[in-house]
Amino acid sequence: MAYKTVILGGGPGGYVAAIRAAQLGAKVLVVEKDRLGGTCLNRGCIPTKALVSGTELLRALNRGAEFGINADNLVTDFSRFMGRKDEVVQRLVTGINYLLKKNKVGIVKGTGKLLSPNTVHIAKEDGSSEQVKAENIIIATGSRPAVNPSWGYDGTTVLTSDEILNLTEQPKSLLIIGGGVIGCEFACIFAQLGTEVTIVEIMPSILGTIDKEAARLMQTLFKKQGISLKTGTGIRKVIKGQEGLTVTLETGEEIRAEKMLVSVGRAFNTEGIGLDTIGVETGPRGEIPVNSRMQTGTGNIYAIGDVTNKIQLAHVASAQGIIAAENIMGKDTEMDYTVVPNCIFTYPEVALVGITGQMATEQGITVKQGKFPFMASGRALAAGQAEGFVKIITDPVTDKILGVTIVGSHASDLIAEAALAMKLGATAQQLAGTIHAHPTLAEAVMEAAEAVHGISIHI
Ligand code: FAD
Repeated sequence: MAYKTVILGGGPGGYVAAIRAAQLGAKVLVVEKDRLGGTCLNRGCIPTKALVSGTELLRALNRGAEFGINADNLVTDFSRFMGRKDEVVQRLVTGINYLLKKNKVGIVKGTGKLLSPNTVHIAKEDGSSEQVKAENIIIATGSRPAVNPSWGYDGTTVLTSDEILNLTEQPKSLLIIGGGVIGCEFACIFAQLGTEVTIVEIMPSILGTIDKEAARLMQTLFKKQGISLKTGTGIRKVIKGQEGLTVTLETGEEIRAEKMLVSVGRAFNTEGIGLDTIGVETGPRGEIPVNSRMQTGTGNIYAIGDVTNKIQLAHVASAQGIIAAENIMGKDTEMDYTVVPNCIFTYPEVALVGITGQMATEQGITVKQGKFPFMASGRALAAGQAEGFVKIITDPVTDKILGVTIVGSHASDLIAEAALAMKLGATAQQLAGTIHAHPTLAEAVMEAAEAVHGISIHI
C-alpha cells in the first residue's frame, strides 16, 4: 500500500499531524505500537491532571470549615481515586480513534521501522508484519522516562512516572528524585493525599528553570504543604529492604521511604527505528535535529514532538505536527517557539510564557517589570486562593510584552491571555487598557500590566 504520509507514533504529535495532513487531502497512515494518544493521554498530561483534579476537590473539602461547610471524617478511596483517571483516559483514547477515522486516517497497531526513506516495516503484535510505501514519513515516536540503573529501578518499589500511575495502594512515604515539573506535580498529588513526600533535587532549587522569585515562593509553599525538600544534593546509594528503601544522599543523610519515584528527565524513542540505516542523523542523546519546517537532514523524513528535543510539551508536539503536515502538503510554514505557554500543575499552579527576568539578564536584555500579588485581588481572596502573583516583563523602549510568569490558582488558564497578547505583539499599555471583568483572577494580569508603568490601582 502507498501513502502520501506514514506517521510513526500516535501521540499528540503524530495524531494531530495525521489529521491536518488528511484535512489537506493526504492519504495518511498512523503506526502506533501501544495506545493512541501516546504519553500525553495515557501516561502524562491527562492522567496526572485527572489526579490533580481529585486532589483539588480534597483540598477544598479539607478547608470546608473555613467556608462554613463542615465536611468531617473525609475518607479517600485510593482505588477509586486512581480508577477515575483510567475512565477519563479511556474516553479520550476512544475520541482520538474516532477523530482519525472521521478524517479517513488509516491506523495500524504495530511497531514501525524505516527500511528506506520511502519504506516502513510494521511488526504487529500477532507476529505478522507488512511493508508500506510512503512519499513522506513523520517520526513522532516520543520519549520515555530516563532511569539511572544504579538506583535499582524495578517498576514496583523504584518507579518512574509510568508505574506510579498504576499504584493500587497509596504509599505511606514517597521519595521523589528530581524536583522538575513531573516530580513536583506528583509531590503535590501525594502530599495532599497524606503520603509523606520528600523531594531530592541536585540543583539549588526545585523548578530551577522558572522565574527565581516564583521558584522561591514555590519552595515555601511546598514546605507549607509538608513536602520535605533536599536541594543541592544527589543520591549516593539506594538499598532495598523488606520495608522499602533506604536512600543515602550525597550529604550523608539517610532517608527511608516505601516507594521512590525517579523523575530526572526523558529518553528519546529513536533507537531501533532504522534512522541509522537510512542516514537520518541523531544528536548525542538520540534526539533528532530538525529545521523550522520540521524536516530532518533527509528531506522527506520529518520529526516532531519530544524526539526533536525542542520543548517537551504536548501542545508543542501538536504545533510541530501541524507544521510538518502543512509542509508535506505544499504549504510553506515554519515553527516559532517564542510564544509557548508552559504550565506546571502543582499547588498552586505555575504558568509561564516568554522570558523571565533572569533570562533577560543572561541575554543582556534590559527589561521593565510589573508585578501584582493575588493577595490584592478580590476574586482570589473570595476564593481563599490569595497565594502567588502575576509578573510581566516588557521591553522598556517598545513596551511590548516579552514574558509573563503567573503563580497561583488557575495560572494555567490565565496564561492564555498573556500568550495571545505576546503573539499579537501587544504592549503592556494595551493590556492594561483592556477592560477586564470584575471580580476575576484575570484582573491581576491587567493590574500587573498597569504596574509596569507604576499605575496599578490596587497596589
Ligand atoms: P508521545 O506522546 O510519547 O507519543 C509517542 C507515541 O509513539 C507513543 O504512543 C508510542 O507508543 C509510539 N511509538 C514509539 N515508538 C514507536 C514505533 N517504533 N512504532 C510505532 N509507534 C511507536 N505536556 C504538557 O503539555 N502538559 C502536561 O501537563 C504534561 N504533563 C505530563 C506529565 C507526565 C507525567 C509526563 C511523562 C509528560 C507530561 N507532558 C505534559 C509531556 C507530554 O506528555 C509530551 O510532551 C507529549 O506526549 C509528547 O508527544 P509526542 O507525540 O512527541 O510523543
